[in-house]
Amino acid sequence: MSILNEFAARNRSFATSFDGGEIPALPKLGTMILTCVDARVDPAHVLGLQLGEAVVFRNNGGRVTQAFIDEVAALAMLVAHRTGMDEASFGIVLMQHTQCGAQAFADPNFRDLIEERIGIDVSPSAVFDPAHDLLVDIERLRDARTLPGSLRVAALLYDVETGVAGEIAPERPLADLRGEGAGFV
Ligand SMILES: [Zn+2]
Repeated sequence: MSILNEFAARNRSFATSFDGGEIPALPKLGTMILTCVDARVDPAHVLGLQLGEAVVFRNNGGRVTQAFIDEVAALAMLVAHRTGMDEASFGIVLMQHTQCGAQAFADPNFRDLIEERIGIDVSPSAVFDPAHDLLVDIERLRDARTLPGSLRVAALLYDVETGVAGEIAPERPLADLRGEGAGFV
């Protein structure tokens, strides 16, 4: 069976009981999740997401890159525009995981090889120690001035061996992390 035939069969089964035609575009949980592309780390399964509950971003390593920041900044503008608010207010949950393939990007020789062969700098995506990298990523969001202080950020580390997503950092508004004081939530 080709992959498209396989997916068509699965989709027929999905569409048979589908009743989500009226689900709004703005996610019900007011949350965006950033995680790795790793096939073992699908937030729909790991965090039990239903359709329409959360926006999910995935990239190599699930790391906060400039590309991710730009996407979030544009989405924050879109949400503010749609809701008529001055600033969008939603949560960002960062979720990295154990045994991440992006740990290969931590090897400077491999990074150099990628840069040399295809001209891409993968250093922002490198995973060194996920629990620590998550804290670095919170700082990347804190320092990204294109992001409104009303956004909130939290971090989880998912263990691919146990299925447990443990808290690394509780949810806090970027404004608090920037020392701008409360009142933005
Ligand atoms: Zn990964």
